[in-house]
Amino acid sequence: MSNENSRHLYDLAVKHIPGGVNSPVRAFKGVGGDPLFFKAGQDAYLIDADDNRYVDYVGGFGPLILGHCHIEVVEALRNQLQQGLAFGASTEAEVKIADKICELMPSIEKVRLVTSGTEATMSAIRLARGYTGRDRIVKFEGCYHGHVDGLLVKAGSGALTLGEPDSLGVPKAYTDLTHVLPYNDTSALQSFFAANGDDIACVIVEPVAGNMNCVPPVPGFLEALREHCTKYGAVLIFDEVMTGFRVALGGAQSVYQVTPDLTTIGKVIGGGLPIGAFGGKTEIMELIAPLGGVYQAGTLAGSPLAVAAGLAMLNVISKPGFHDELAARTTTLLNGLQERADQAGIAFTTNQVGAMFGCFFIEEKQVSHFSQVMSCDTERFKHYFHSMLENGVYLAPSAFEAGFVSSAHGNTEIQLTLDAAEKAFSALPK
Ligand SMILES: *Cc1c(COP(=O)(O)O)cnc(C)c1O
Repeated sequence: MSNENSRHLYDLAVKHIPGGVNSPVRAFKGVGGDPLFFKAGQDAYLIDADDNRYVDYVGGFGPLILGHCHIEVVEALRNQLQQGLAFGASTEAEVKIADKICELMPSIEKVRLVTSGTEATMSAIRLARGYTGRDRIVKFEGCYHGHVDGLLVKAGSGALTLGEPDSLGVPKAYTDLTHVLPYNDTSALQSFFAANGDDIACVIVEPVAGNMNCVPPVPGFLEALREHCTKYGAVLIFDEVMTGFRVALGGAQSVYQVTPDLTTIGKVIGGGLPIGAFGGKTEIMELIAPLGGVYQAGTLAGSPLAVAAGLAMLNVISKPGFHDELAARTTTLLNGLQERADQAGIAFTTNQVGAMFGCFFIEEKQVSHFSQVMSCDTERFKHYFHSMLENGVYLAPSAFEAGFVSSAHGNTEIQLTLDAAEKAFSALPK
């Protein structure tokens, strides 16, 4: 398989683009080699600059739950293109997508659109601080909530891959207000709140952690978060930028039946275009400008293109049974991978919530803690990654990213993936 064109483009890219990429998770730093350049996506496949085809498990890092170029999304975009791209004023489609989001996630009574997940979490935290009149916030180890200054503490995949748990350039005073607790550790939460609960503005959490590979919440963890936030008057924020409309139509909050005060979403709601949103209880949401004193704004917020693509996508995935079917395919894929790893004698296990999954090169059969994720064999992952790539499967270039299955992944694609994995597992150094 030739990578000549990708290599050439990468050589050109590094000249004017730092590291040759516009987001660090696209670099191959965690797996070695040069990143591929892609020129097209078709259904479940990516086509690189040298015309190689790969089954795609990155899905644009989350949004592409219908695969690439789904006809209804493309049609919606085509129509909107002819109607105008930015009005600096409200549109009917914004009303429709707000209604749709509130219908699908009933904990969201009012919602504000922004242009990225980062903006959504940043704004939600500002709002929680404004609402409670408190400054301190809590996040969890290995959870990523965008590149917000105060949240770049033990912040998951991108930073983990680069071996930089915290970022330069973030004033210590900002992160002094951020408390980091271990994910899935209810007793640490309990003792922290007993000592500091009255000073906490909010707790922000990925209800299924998807930026330290894929780690579901252990039973009782999300419930304990809800309980402590209620008891101490802190705002509970579920960051569902990745999990929203992905792990189930109603997001992780519908799977685990725990209701946050605020929710941040993104990825799937833009259908592949830049978007984010935050929403929740009316009483809190009415504190943002122009109704209240918490300022928040965006020139391209509610971009007609992003909203058109998102609405089209939300309509398609709202069809009954869509997520069950997707979850079943994901299970087939993961069972197949497990079987082949076992046959090859490779220590391997997987996690799955709906159409989101994680693969771990580890002896333990259950992965629920950050420290376990960190103990995985990243050397093995590198070999596996490159071997899968050579056999036509594109995984995220990091052992710390979750994988995504789309409705375009059929039996053919799953079989192709399993055949590639069989070769990859048997070629791994023992
Ligand atoms: C991707 C992601 C973000 C950041 O979204 P961007 O659109 O990249 O800014 C925030 N939180 C979670 C859980 C994410 O997965």
